[in-house]
Amino acid sequence: MTEESKLIAPCGMNCGVCIAYLRDKRKCPGCHGEDTNKPPTRTRCIIKNCETIKSSQSGFCFDCVQYPCKRLQQLDKRYRTKYSMSMIENLEHIRDIGLNAFIETEKHRWLCRKCGGVICVHRGYCLNCGERSGRLA
Ligand SMILES: [Zn+2]
Repeated sequence: MTEESKLIAPCGMNCGVCIAYLRDKRKCPGCHGEDTNKPPTRTRCIIKNCETIKSSQSGFCFDCVQYPCKRLQQLDKRYRTKYSMSMIENLEHIRDIGLNAFIETEKHRWLCRKCGGVICVHRGYCLNCGERSGRLA
């Protein structure tokens, strides 16, 4: 697993654009990293701790017999509503084009056009320069 692919969580979340990963203090290493510094909502995440995913071939939710499970659907709905991002869409994308190609599209998707930084999914702007317009829909 490369450093970049480690940042893609089993649910399809790109940890690299998460506020907990991008912030300077108590930085979260992403769902595949150690649990130190992670808020309880993340260490207790049902999807992150799901045994079916751990034993699946790809390590992603789409390989699960229960896909998309209720928990994933709830998470997906929350992110679509609040942050205009869909885990299920990400997962389908990973399944269709492969993880490496998905990572490339993600880099482009969250790139700040002003400073080359990363647009945070939770804030909706670049944490480096504050630019909002960089993000593609
Ligand atoms: Zn920027």
